[in-house]
Order: sequence, then structure tokens, then C-alpha cells
Amino acid sequence: MKDLFEKCFAWTDADDLKAMGYYPYFLPLEDTEGTEVVIEGHRLLMLGSNNYLGLTTHPRVRQAAIDAVRDYGTSCTGSRFLNGTLALHHELERRLADFVGKEAALVFSTGMQVNLGVISSLVGRGEVVIVDKDDHASIVDGARLSYGSMLRFRHNDMQDLERVLAKAGDAGKMVVVDGLFSMGGDIAPQPEIVSICQRYHARLMVDDAHSMGVLGQGRGTAAHFGLTEDVDLIMGTFSKSFASLGGFIAGSRDVMNYVQHHARSLIFSASIPAHCVTPVLAALDIIENEPERIEMLWSITERMRKGLKELGFNTGQSQTPVIPVIIGDDIPTFVTWKTLYDAGIYTNPVISPAVPQGMALLRTSYMATHTEEQIDRALSIFEQVGRQLALI
Ligand code: PMP
Repeated sequence: MKDLFEKCFAWTDADDLKAMGYYPYFLPLEDTEGTEVVIEGHRLLMLGSNNYLGLTTHPRVRQAAIDAVRDYGTSCTGSRFLNGTLALHHELERRLADFVGKEAALVFSTGMQVNLGVISSLVGRGEVVIVDKDDHASIVDGARLSYGSMLRFRHNDMQDLERVLAKAGDAGKMVVVDGLFSMGGDIAPQPEIVSICQRYHARLMVDDAHSMGVLGQGRGTAAHFGLTEDVDLIMGTFSKSFASLGGFIAGSRDVMNYVQHHARSLIFSASIPAHCVTPVLAALDIIENEPERIEMLWSITERMRKGLKELGFNTGQSQTPVIPVIIGDDIPTFVTWKTLYDAGIYTNPVISPAVPQGMALLRTSYMATHTEEQIDRALSIFEQVGRQLALI
């Protein structure tokens, strides 16, 4: 008789890395002021967050959460469907719909749950969901949960997208792409995707988790390209620029109404508490009223990208504040991560299957609140480590 746990006893990958001193995951941050963190008593420059606008420690955002705990307590203790909807959720949905330029929006408890619930509820039996091979895991899992079938096209390859759409024939179809790819930092070619989707009568959903607060005056990639009308569904999370936890989908009123009554991850999971809603409302105010924050983010980003390139690092196709440093194989990536860590920089090592085999990288990302001194320090450490490990 087989023991289901046998695979757990035999799996030693994480322990092997720990024994080598290169295990980089689940590290507890003891202290974080946004641009710098303390881990194991060691102060590090944070180049691995999604806190693009640095709003998690903004006094107004922080106060909004504190006030909500005082006014509403700590939890909704139930799902939106039955007993967990607050007037605040509706207020946020109205604000988000207006912000991204759609008729309606729905707030979920995480971005992951948005993708699981929206894709699985909309793509039914006999229908097809088409995803980019580099799409986020939550999109792939939403597609897997649906009763329809999933087809994949090569990353940002428009000919391949057409091939796949043609293969899907007359079935109801939805294409789902990341607006800004979270590992490569490149942007999906939305004008081409929109025109291909229109030609093949496919609906289009864009995951703007990483472009909210970053592109299109903070409104995401559809606004960036002037295609808000043409993208059917715009998805975002609160766990990045919006400095909270949760996620949303925005689209037409009819589709939102259908998703609201069919998405299992919305109906069967507790809603976000008030103190996760109010920071998003505060963040929206700040994004709308302080465009200079986004300008700062881009100026820091361009300085770092230029610096890394001039040093000779391979930053791939990045066009945004997500800048990968491509190393190649897994072990050298972990060695580089640890050498940077010891020298005072926190990055995220990313290996297969999150990126293709042989394309392991260190994901770095930037914040509006990084200072010029911090960027200079980061470049000088990258230079020192790059030479030491013969990467440049
Ligand atoms: N989509 C993308 C592209 C993401 O990067 C993430 C989170 N890293 C998610 C969805 C899920 O968002 P959340 O963290 O809110 O679950």
C-alpha cells in the first residue's frame, strides 16, 4: 500500500539549499520602513517589494487603517455574499470603477481569488480561455478551475496568439494576459492584442496587478495605451501600489453582476476587513492628487535600469519598475542572491517554473520613495558583486 506522504519525506530541495546556506524564501522581515528592511538583525536595501509608490508607510494610508479598526473592529467574519459586505466595499467598488473607467467593479479578498473566481465563472463548458505562457500562476489556476479548456501562446508572440485563436474556432473565447509581466517587467502589446481579439471575437481580460499605480497615470495598461473601452475586464490587486490586501475586477455592469453571483472565490471566502479597504481609498486619493509620486518612481527606475545596463548586467526586455537581472542557471542565481544579501541588498531569486529553464533571474523592483543615495548604493554593490562573481 502506498503512503501519500512519501513524496514529502523524499523531497529535500529546500533542505539542500538551507544546508548550502543559500535558501532565500520565507525570510521574516523584522522591521520595514519600505525602502529598507531588517532581516536576521541585518539591515538591507529593499529591492524586492511590490510597494511601487511606497504607500504602505504613508501617514494618511496608515491612519486610514487605524481609524477603520477603531470604527469597524477587526474582521467581517463572512463572505460578501452573506454577511461580509460593508457600505465601504461598495464605496471602494464605485471608486475603482471610476478610477479605471469601467461601469462597475467587484472587490475580492485577494488578487489570486479574483483570477480564480472571474476566469472559472466566465469560461464555461465548451468555451476556451487563452493565456500567455508567462501569465501569473493565478491566471493559469483560474483557467484550470474553469470547465472550459485552456490554450497557451508564446510570450507576447502575436502570430502565436492568432494561431491559437484560430484553433479555438467558433467557441466562446477569452484571452487573459498580464498587462505588465511581474518577472520580466515587460508590457503586453495591448494594441495588437485588442485588434486580434476583435478579429477573432474573443473577450479580453488584463491583469494589471503590477501596473496599477505605475502606468497610465496609475490606472493601468489599458489607460496607458488609451484602450480602456477595448479591454473588457481590468483586474488589479491591493497588495502592491494600493498598499493593502485584496483585489478587484472591473468591467460592464452585466458581466460584474454575473461574476458576483457565480465566482466561488467571492461567494465562499470572507471579505476584506474595513482596515484593508480604507488604505486603498486613501491610496486612490494620493494617486489622483500627487502624480509626482509616479514621476519619482519612473525617474528612480530609469536611473537604475541605465546603471545596471552600463555595468553590463542583462536586464532582459524590462520597460518598467520591475527590472530582472538575468543570471541563467539556478545555483549561480542563488549564489548571486546570497552575495548581494550579505552585501546589503534584498532581491527575489526566481527560478523555473516561474521563468523558463536556464533563465533564472534576480527580480528587482523600485519604489517612488527610494532615495538617490540608495540607488547609488545599490549600483555600487551590484558592481562589486558583479565583478566578484565574474557576471560583468
Ligand atoms: N496577478 C499578478 C500578476 C500578480 O503578480 C499577483 C501577486 N503577485 C497576483 C495576481 C495575485 O495578487 P494577490 O497578491 O493580491 O493575491
